[in-house]
Amino acid sequence: MLQDLIETLEQKYRNTYLEYWKDLHRHPEPSYEEVRTSGKVRDILKSLDLEVKTGIGGTGIVGVLKGNNPGPVIALRADMDALQIQEETGCSFASENEGVMHACGHDTHTAMLLGAAHILSEIKDQIKGSIKFIFQPAEESSPTGGAPGMIRDGVLENPKVSAILGVHIWPTLKTGELGIREGIMSAASDRLQISISGKSTHAATPEFGIDAVVIAAQAISSLQTLISRNVSPLDSAVITIGKITGGTRYNIVADRVELDGTVRTFAPETRKLLARRIEETVEGTVRAMGGTCEVNYRWGYPSVMNNPKITAIARNTIKKIVGEKGLYEIDMPNPGGEDFAFFSEKIPSAFVWVGCRPQDKPAEEFPKLHNNRFLPDKRALPFGVKYLCQVALDVLEEVGE
Ligand SMILES: [Zn+2]
Ligand SMILES: [Zn+2]
Repeated sequence: MLQDLIETLEQKYRNTYLEYWKDLHRHPEPSYEEVRTSGKVRDILKSLDLEVKTGIGGTGIVGVLKGNNPGPVIALRADMDALQIQEETGCSFASENEGVMHACGHDTHTAMLLGAAHILSEIKDQIKGSIKFIFQPAEESSPTGGAPGMIRDGVLENPKVSAILGVHIWPTLKTGELGIREGIMSAASDRLQISISGKSTHAATPEFGIDAVVIAAQAISSLQTLISRNVSPLDSAVITIGKITGGTRYNIVADRVELDGTVRTFAPETRKLLARRIEETVEGTVRAMGGTCEVNYRWGYPSVMNNPKITAIARNTIKKIVGEKGLYEIDMPNPGGEDFAFFSEKIPSAFVWVGCRPQDKPAEEFPKLHNNRFLPDKRALPFGVKYLCQVALDVLEEVGE
């Protein structure tokens, strides 16, 4: 049976892809700079005799595996980029790139997909159709993301892809659990950039100036009231200003402050409402205090939408890999953004979470995504690899009918 064969081959290649993971983890590269990473991916895909195309949407790579039997084309997607954060996991294969770390686990996605490429290549005489392995850059570079560039460069065409599958390693789920949900899987994620201008003067004589720092403080507080007063308690949304820069010296009233943040929403109406209210609120607050401002609301990633049919197939695949016990039905979409959404806007897709929290670690204690101590349980990767292989075959089977 094919499923048993996948089990056997997964064990055969386990060390290989775990070594890929450690190597990628040691050499993380930020968005659009995945040069070493994509070079490695290219070499491995070529060694497997896949048809490889490079430079798709920047550093993106695609490998096509043609099965020996006719059938449709489906795609498996992994992202490759890391984050600008200093690693503090203390692991033996910690980042050697100062200030850059695979804190979102995209190294595991790339390694798992390479593992799946090894396995599926070995059983291509039994594959009905073709599988595109998509290695995407710049998932973290909101608001544009790396997926749109690959789509523009034709990654879903020639041959035309009829469904796409993706995974994300997930720290709140236990190793051996795979999470899925039909419909909205992730928040829409937009970028908010505000620049506030005032007038500088001596710190001791504020009456001669317009203090951009004080205005910024007021604006940030007002923004938070939009969440509590404009968003229904039955819906939810987040506004986070993650970065403030401004001022030149401790004893000069600042004439300029830049705010950089993100807005997360689920319902499309709430997304539109907040975009409008943010602009009104900031402009009103700044004007009232004598300053001027520019509000730049940049539409970013839409929500990942899991297609009902593909989700049903993927749910069955999950049961094959981890049983009913390991199937985690996600009740609430994730407030994080995910640019797989751009693929899911174009073609039917399913995005799945792969649990990576060691069995003995309580969820509260295990570091989450984007934390400098985040390190997935290595026992999680085999579940992701087996899922990717099996779901590819299962979706090929069903969309081919
Ligand atoms: Zn991330
Ligand atoms: Zn991520």
